[in-house]
Amino acid sequence: MADFTNEIKKRRTFAIISHPDAGKTTLTEKFLLYGGAINQAGSVKGKATAKHAVSDWMEIEKERGISVTSSVLQFQYDGYCINILDTPGHQDFSEDTYRTLMAADSAVMVIDGSKGVEAQTRKLFKVCVMRHIPIFTFINKMDREAMDTFELLDDIEKELGIATCPINWPIGSGKEFRGVFDRNSRELEIFSDTKKGTSIGEVEKVSIDSEEAKSIVSEAQFAQLEEEIELLDGASAEFDQEMVSKGELSPVFFGSALTNFGVETFLQHFLKMTTSPLPRMSDKGLIDPMKEEDFSAFVFKIQANMNKAHRDRIAFMRICSGEFKAGMDVFHIQGGRKVRLSQPQQMMASERHMIDIAYGGDIIGVFDPGIFSIGDTLTNSAEKFAYEGIPTFAPEHFARVRQVDTMKRKQFIKGINEIAQEGAIQIFQEFNTGMEEIIVGVVGVLQFDVLKYRLENEYNVEIRLEPLPYEHIRWIENEEINMDKLVGTSDMKKIKDLKDRPLLLFVNSWSIRMVLERNEGLKLSEFGRS
Ligand code: GDP
Repeated sequence: MADFTNEIKKRRTFAIISHPDAGKTTLTEKFLLYGGAINQAGSVKGKATAKHAVSDWMEIEKERGISVTSSVLQFQYDGYCINILDTPGHQDFSEDTYRTLMAADSAVMVIDGSKGVEAQTRKLFKVCVMRHIPIFTFINKMDREAMDTFELLDDIEKELGIATCPINWPIGSGKEFRGVFDRNSRELEIFSDTKKGTSIGEVEKVSIDSEEAKSIVSEAQFAQLEEEIELLDGASAEFDQEMVSKGELSPVFFGSALTNFGVETFLQHFLKMTTSPLPRMSDKGLIDPMKEEDFSAFVFKIQANMNKAHRDRIAFMRICSGEFKAGMDVFHIQGGRKVRLSQPQQMMASERHMIDIAYGGDIIGVFDPGIFSIGDTLTNSAEKFAYEGIPTFAPEHFARVRQVDTMKRKQFIKGINEIAQEGAIQIFQEFNTGMEEIIVGVVGVLQFDVLKYRLENEYNVEIRLEPLPYEHIRWIENEEINMDKLVGTSDMKKIKDLKDRPLLLFVNSWSIRMVLERNEGLKLSEFGRS
């Protein structure tokens, strides 16, 4: 086997998932601080300005100061090469956010200790579960008043249906926060916020059995800690690496990203417990990066029109095996021919930069002259194979689209189809009529603006969007079902995709269950096939 297996082995490629404001950006920034990628915390953030620098590509991003697409950061720490995939939140939440998770080998879930599991975390978590990847939990903002620790764990277990295993345990929260107790070493890591987390600093550790511990923690807190630990040892799941690897048990850590407390401890444990690049399923079976010597990758995101003058696109791909060299020729399976991968680039903190070499586990963006689609495979393996496709994720917002100038029908259809091919939107039709009525579905509402903007600017077509009340979509898995005989609910609508496959839209989620009950044998899915 070629000597780059060592390079692949030291790679850790993961996504950070959270609800907006839980502290994902702050935690990422602190990771970079340890990796020496930035000198001082604060250089990633400054939301408006820094995010600008990352993706200054579309006017719409500039206008709003937000990033429409997710980015990747790479840094080194303690012999590991770490790739962090950012999953955008807020109004820029889109299907790309979900697709990013298809490129990760594990996920870090950041939870605000005062809020517990929130909506966006729940959504992203579903995709992680579907993939059976390891999920790690960092409960953040312990320097603020937090929920009861047992309640927090209960919330995660009940809301998300995953067992938890606290690796450390908080001592108080808010003004009373004193640090965390490491269950394995039986040491207290003492909290101090004097430096406000701008530098790495030293963490003071003392054994729970030492006299010193009693002088730092009040008597009452000490008694509570002992009681909680006893409860915990009796009640919680034991650490089981195999269950962690299968995504059935989530190791839980507590800390405060802002004050840089508990971050390095988390990083160290996480890097040991998580996984190096995982094998991936293809039409020829599992492709293992430790066995497959040749380069292979799949496209998980396409970023359009970074340079309006050239209408160019960048295809982001996850390298699954082998070594990548700038300018190399590789076979594009879906296109059926060799292509040269030019202008390869990576993200580094807030800059894009060209790269010469990359390995299995890494994410690269390459120039796309318009030939790639989401899910495509590239490989130099003599025995050609295609990686399993990326599912279509359920849109949550729907609108009817009409062009203002009916004479521009052709441009309109072309534009909307091209934008759908890139995966920015999904298009559907009325069930019983043709293309006259187009229904657009998006995962994040911002995509409607992107659609409108792009049709106007790139295709010279003005459109009107009429919002529809539906929020839930289901693909029908058993397509042989007779759609005319289907017993629906008053808030249900039948539509079809461009391949004439039937789908159902619902206003209320409970109607989904009713329809399932009313139609025996009907199988509905939240994920579609592309
Ligand atoms: P994101 O939206 O998940 O990326 O969250 P940010 O990292 O932008 O954090 C949201 C807000 O919470 C910011 O004002 C942060 O300064 C603050 N924050 C992040 N971590 C902590 C923490 O550990 N403690 C406290 N008190 N505030 C935090």
